[in-house]
Amino acid sequence: MSDMILLGAPGAGKGTQGVNLSKLYSIPQISTGDILRENVRNKTPLGAKAKGFMDRGALVTDEIVVDMVIDRIAKPDCANGFMLDGFPRNMAQAEALEAMLSKMEREIDHVIGIEVPNKELLRRLTGRRVCRKCSASYHVIFSPPLNIGMCDKCGDEIYQRDDDKEDTIAERLKVYEEETHPLISYYTEKGLYRAIDGIGGVDSITDSITEAIDRASDNS
Ligand code: AMP
Repeated sequence: MSDMILLGAPGAGKGTQGVNLSKLYSIPQISTGDILRENVRNKTPLGAKAKGFMDRGALVTDEIVVDMVIDRIAKPDCANGFMLDGFPRNMAQAEALEAMLSKMEREIDHVIGIEVPNKELLRRLTGRRVCRKCSASYHVIFSPPLNIGMCDKCGDEIYQRDDDKEDTIAERLKVYEEETHPLISYYTEKGLYRAIDGIGGVDSITDSITEAIDRASDNS
């Protein structure tokens, strides 16, 4: 069983790596950001509660996301593991995750920390465009779609997320530093943190991640 967390600042490449890793390990990628955006798009009561927080780059309340993750992890496709992308985002969520997993007699096996300097994060986030339907990620300069405005994978529209505008990006990076970054020490102390250099080609970073997972699994 592989229960994994992808940790990293906004723009570090969690979503992109999650797609590769989910295929390689045959486990679902669970992106709390994608689930929340889908709820906002479909105007659900959960989406209405979350929208204000998301628009200003703040974290949605723990109660909302924790319940969401509890429901998702209980689904049959998570029986052999899962890849959490964007959760936990603070200490309270990390503790809630541990409690929910322990009730299921499971535990986190690996925390993959994708590390990217702030300057590069800014460059990536300001140029990021995503598909409205399948969440595939592009960059206006470094990885543009083949046809302007159209997703290569599903043909739907690609757009700039509201929270990828400059003011909101600054707030999201601050929230990351204050709330999420402390999780690195938390998971390092538990022996679960695998630091990965997030600069380089997508596939070579995926290789570094699988090597780190293999090394850690050999040592355990
Ligand atoms: P992301 O797509 O992971 O960058 O998330 C986009 C936004 O969704 C964040 O800025 C938060 O407002 C919200 N969000 C996603 N995951 C969480 C989480 N685990 N806890 C609180 N808010 C979250």
